[in-house]
Amino acid sequence: MAKKHVDVLILNSNETITLVTRDNKTGLGVIDNGGVAISQGKIVLAASSELLERKFQSSTTIDAADEIILPGFVDPHTHLVFAGARDAEFQSRIEGASYLDVLRKGGGIIETVNRTRQASSESLFQSGKQRLDTCLESGSTTVEIKSGYGLRDDEEFKILKTINRLRKYHSCHIVPTFMGAHAVPPGETPSEYVLDVIDEMLPQIARSGLADFCDVFCEQGAFDSLESARILGKARKLGLKLKIHADQFTDSRGAEVANKLHTTSADHLIHSPTKQLEKMAETRVTPVVLPASSLSTLNGENANARTMLALGLPVALGTDFSPSNWMLGQLTVAALASRELRMSAPEVVRAITINAARALGLEKRVGSLHIGKEADLVTLRVPSHRWIGYTYGESIVDDVLIGGKLVVRDGKKVP
Ligand SMILES: [Zn+2]
Repeated sequence: MAKKHVDVLILNSNETITLVTRDNKTGLGVIDNGGVAISQGKIVLAASSELLERKFQSSTTIDAADEIILPGFVDPHTHLVFAGARDAEFQSRIEGASYLDVLRKGGGIIETVNRTRQASSESLFQSGKQRLDTCLESGSTTVEIKSGYGLRDDEEFKILKTINRLRKYHSCHIVPTFMGAHAVPPGETPSEYVLDVIDEMLPQIARSGLADFCDVFCEQGAFDSLESARILGKARKLGLKLKIHADQFTDSRGAEVANKLHTTSADHLIHSPTKQLEKMAETRVTPVVLPASSLSTLNGENANARTMLALGLPVALGTDFSPSNWMLGQLTVAALASRELRMSAPEVVRAITINAARALGLEKRVGSLHIGKEADLVTLRVPSHRWIGYTYGESIVDDVLIGGKLVVRDGKKVP
């Protein structure tokens, strides 16, 4: 029988982690000595190398000997477009200042808002591009990016336009989120600003098509649960999908809002009552846990991922990259989740692939090596998936493909 032609064949991996499995808890769908056939940017088949070589011939062949192949990582939570840095604030946290104290004194988010308002669109684009290159070299192929350092309609537009420019010109898949309700701008009361967001910003942003999601910081010192629900309710009416920063520092009833509104994801969840986590199984809200962010706040508090997993929830992990938590690698998050949250390697792998895709409503397009999905893949220089979370601080990414195109080779972005 004549061999069928495909664009790319990746062969000889130790393990090909397909995530195509009926076991939705710890199943990885591992193929030993396997690989992947790709055509026209999509997965044609993940199978044993022997079967692939029998069925297909290809224009390009990639040898993944002594490596493992996974779906490209999905980072479902970043604040990647901003100006400046907050290295000094981090030092003050080391000396004992709390995140919310800093915010109350007009530092934190507000400091970044001031810097970002002064920055040109071009400089935001250039720094965003560099950061996305780092994401790529760390194996992430889909990245969510929130606005929220403008806090004024023209400035929020500036950031969302930058995110959409990155979406157009960068090889990563980008998911833009409007987060005008990130903090209350100085000089306004929360209720005045909530009206601005609901009546002025949201309708314009929904009309512009610049955002897929709307997110809110539901927290003491930011927006309470009623304000958060009003903003998200309006966003839903205007056709946006919903996310929420819930219960990061206190039980602010964020998880309750998420359950009531059936948001796509609820993120942080450090202080959420177990009752609300239990409800997420019915409301199908995907919990996003952000251990790097917890570590950077230096308060020793983490979400209870073990409880979520025991409840059968599809726990996702993200970086929460921001000026207060400067890290972009999902493999580093994996190492933290293993150590701080006691998540097993299979749980961690699911959390940065298929579950993270679910947190963005993209589980039908990315996050597994299912036939017909985007050919977004990463090859890692480790012998088995058990090394994910086990090793950290060394670069193990070899190749990254997006839509079947090689975008990182030998750990470096292809120019
Ligand atoms: Zn965040």
